[in-house]
Amino acid sequence: MSQFDVDLFVIGAGSGGVRAARIAASYGAKVMIAEEYRVGGTCVIRGCVPKKLMVYASRFSLEFEEAAGFGWDVGDATFDWATLIRNKDKEIDRLEGIYRTNLERSGVTVVDSRAVIEDPHTVHVLKTGERIRARYILVAVGAHPTLEPVIPGGELGITSNEVFHLKEQPKRIMIVGGGYIAVEFAGVFAGLGSEVTLLHRGDKLLRGFDDDVRDALGASYAQRGINLALGRTAQRLDRTPDGIAATLSDGSVVTVDQVLVATGRRPNTKGLGLEKVGITVDEVGAIPVDSYSQTLIPSIYAVGDVTNRANLTPIAIREGHAFADTVFGDRPTIVDHDLIPTAVFSTPEIGVIGCSEAAAWARYGDIDVYKTAFRPMKATLSGAHERMLMKLIVDKATGRVVGVHIVGHDAGEMIQLAGVAVTMGATKADFDRTVAVHPTASEELVTMRTPAVVKRPVAVG
Ligand SMILES: Cc1cc2nc3c(=O)[nH]c(=O)nc-3n(C[C@H](O)[C@H](O)[C@H](O)COP(=O)(O)OP(=O)(O)OC[C@H]3O[C@@H](n4cnc5c(N)ncnc54)[C@H](O)[C@@H]3O)c2cc1C
Repeated sequence: MSQFDVDLFVIGAGSGGVRAARIAASYGAKVMIAEEYRVGGTCVIRGCVPKKLMVYASRFSLEFEEAAGFGWDVGDATFDWATLIRNKDKEIDRLEGIYRTNLERSGVTVVDSRAVIEDPHTVHVLKTGERIRARYILVAVGAHPTLEPVIPGGELGITSNEVFHLKEQPKRIMIVGGGYIAVEFAGVFAGLGSEVTLLHRGDKLLRGFDDDVRDALGASYAQRGINLALGRTAQRLDRTPDGIAATLSDGSVVTVDQVLVATGRRPNTKGLGLEKVGITVDEVGAIPVDSYSQTLIPSIYAVGDVTNRANLTPIAIREGHAFADTVFGDRPTIVDHDLIPTAVFSTPEIGVIGCSEAAAWARYGDIDVYKTAFRPMKATLSGAHERMLMKLIVDKATGRVVGVHIVGHDAGEMIQLAGVAVTMGATKADFDRTVAVHPTASEELVTMRTPAVVKRPVAVG
């Protein structure tokens, strides 16, 4: 008899863990997976999916406004928060059921419990007290939102975990943070009619994104009436008869009904037993792994947000799949983290693949930049102030398109397809010889002919 109860024990049934478990089982491995909260993980239960449903909900208000220019009279539209939350919860329950069924159908044993590591081959299932001996352990425990930085009264704030379950829609909300989750929820609440203050310590939103994209989003949010409190931080929060009073670093006080803190996430490595096997986490609590997701303990691997490489669902899924191919499929597979198409579901939406202009100067030395900003056709009759931005960054030496940046309606959908071309190594000439689809916004991607006059940063070359 084998000295192991299972070939693979996966801790965490989120994006990475579920994929790894199913693929490993398909190779004939005996697999057990433990989940302490809900099967599906952050993405399905309290991340991408419920967020996108709320984004859809929030965009109807703009559609209703814009419909008038096309002859529609939609009357006085009203919004009911409770209906949205109820319907969203129903859909999440349905998806959770599908995830569980798919695991079970694949032959994976699902354990509803927290699990911790005891030694390189043993996992302790806390609910039952069982100790499971596993040939391999995969840590796929994800990350959690924090209420950082810690300030007096900070506990009055909520995180993205709670925002999906608020009993009432806040009439006034302050969102703290300038990353993608913060700007997405700012767009959601503004669209649903809340008064939104977006508080961010930097002078622009979305650090790391192309500056033109950052400027376009900032301008659009200001135009939509979102109160952009940039270059400031919250010093304290106090409960008052009128709500929560946030004292900012410039001395001003903003009173709101909810404060949503979206300043960052930390890997779920506390109390996981890593110290028992000699795995030391990095300064943010992430597990260091090699390009095969293997930790320094040969029988223990880690994938997804817990490794803090690229914290996105498709990446966790790929890492989980590659792990199973490598360990159980006899196909060593490395995930390329270099070219990742991604979307920000702000309104206006953002789609990006490859380098920002600043990063491209540093990486390629000499580049051409093509960009256009225009009023989309729909806005002509609707009267919307909306503008779209499209930008291509081209490596001059090879002619390859090394960055695509889109701000505007359906940018997320467009960037998936532009991503195929860029991943294949398409050149600007390939974009040019692609026939335009007319009339669309995306045709601008293949019709930009003249490089913009851009200034090479002083520090480069
Ligand atoms: C608000 C929000 C919006 C997002 N939107 C997007 C988006 O639009 N697109 C995108 O690509 N990504 C998005 N993400 C990121 C995405 O959700 C994560 O990158 C992805 O879920 C990571 O997958 P994972 O498998 O690493 O971890 P998770 O999906 O977080 O799964 C980890 C699981 O492990 C469980 N767990 C933890 N510790 C234990 C333990 N000791 N024992 C048992 N179980 C345990 C947790 O309960 C959890 O279910 C969003 C995230 C948030 C918070």
